[in-house]
Amino acid sequence: MALAPYASDPARSRGRRFEEAPTPHRSAFQRDRDRIVHSTAFRRLVYKTQVFLNHEGDLFRTRMTHSIEVAQLGRSIARPLGLDEDLVEAIALAHDLGHTPFGHAGQDALDECMGPYGGFEHNLQSLRVVDQLEERYPRFDGLNLSFETREGILKHCSHANAERLEAREPGGVGRRFLDRTQPSLEAQLCNLADEIAYNAHDVDDGLRSGLITREQLESVPLFEGYLREVVRAHPTLAGRRLAYEVIRLMLSAQVHDVIDTTGQALRDEAPRDADAVRAATPLVRFSADMRGRSTELKRFLFQNLYRHPQVMETTGLAKQMVRELFAAYLACPADMPAAYASQDDLPRAIADYIAGMTDRFAGREHERLTGKRLLAT
Ligand code: MG
Repeated sequence: MALAPYASDPARSRGRRFEEAPTPHRSAFQRDRDRIVHSTAFRRLVYKTQVFLNHEGDLFRTRMTHSIEVAQLGRSIARPLGLDEDLVEAIALAHDLGHTPFGHAGQDALDECMGPYGGFEHNLQSLRVVDQLEERYPRFDGLNLSFETREGILKHCSHANAERLEAREPGGVGRRFLDRTQPSLEAQLCNLADEIAYNAHDVDDGLRSGLITREQLESVPLFEGYLREVVRAHPTLAGRRLAYEVIRLMLSAQVHDVIDTTGQALRDEAPRDADAVRAATPLVRFSADMRGRSTELKRFLFQNLYRHPQVMETTGLAKQMVRELFAAYLACPADMPAAYASQDDLPRAIADYIAGMTDRFAGREHERLTGKRLLAT
């Protein structure tokens, strides 16, 4: 399908930080996607926690399967809207590269440890991975991705960090957080696809784990509406297949809602190109009704799953491991590989090292340095 005028056109990309000759058979964004898939940080996502720790079960989402689901949903929405699917896929596959081991617990603990040294933000860390930390090319650090992919990866950024980025790269990816403008439609779409993906798969994983029940979910309008529909159409359906069918309907309703609502917003606003999109209000969105139902589901998951005593217990242990790892490396940098131990900015090097760890590796390192075995990783 042809790109819409407001899509990000790879032929008109703002380019890479280090100039490279174009390749004959792939667009700039396809090339970005391919570089991300081949990166070390991407492979590590398979052993990083989304909500449930990696060792708690083989069927729960990991950061890797989550990212693939975001890419799938994003592409489904991008195509009918005439957006660039390759850019959507690249951003989706890279959006969580900067996540620490142990999910949000790890990120919160590392941010605490880094408090005196400029803090730790996982979105900024994702950008750091693709800009600096990957070591694959002879001429430059990082993956040297296009501006548009980097713009999408940096979903949020504090004002202080945006100023730092702007000083290093004037008019670059930090700028929009100072100007309060929007990113491309493809980036906006990945944001929403992320939310659709985790709401749905956390319902699935939550049910599978037994931490939430179908009965509880009947109080959530987005779930309950489709549950009634499925029970009416398939009165004998039960168990996992019933849950899957409800989740499937929930997912497609949200995808269609975003396509219809965003399509209308684009017709109303009629941005003439991708830069007009950046100057406009956010255009990728749910209808007001779906926004309300999605927010209610999110609230339900927050109260009943992410704050479940069993999840909170592992969260506490995970935070302790990250804090103790950080303290151990700060006291004895030689416990890290030389490439990290020799950096001028030691706290940042420790944060990079810990953020890059898989759950398993962090658990083993923690045991090696402290003699304690907190989680059966
Ligand atoms: Mg995500």
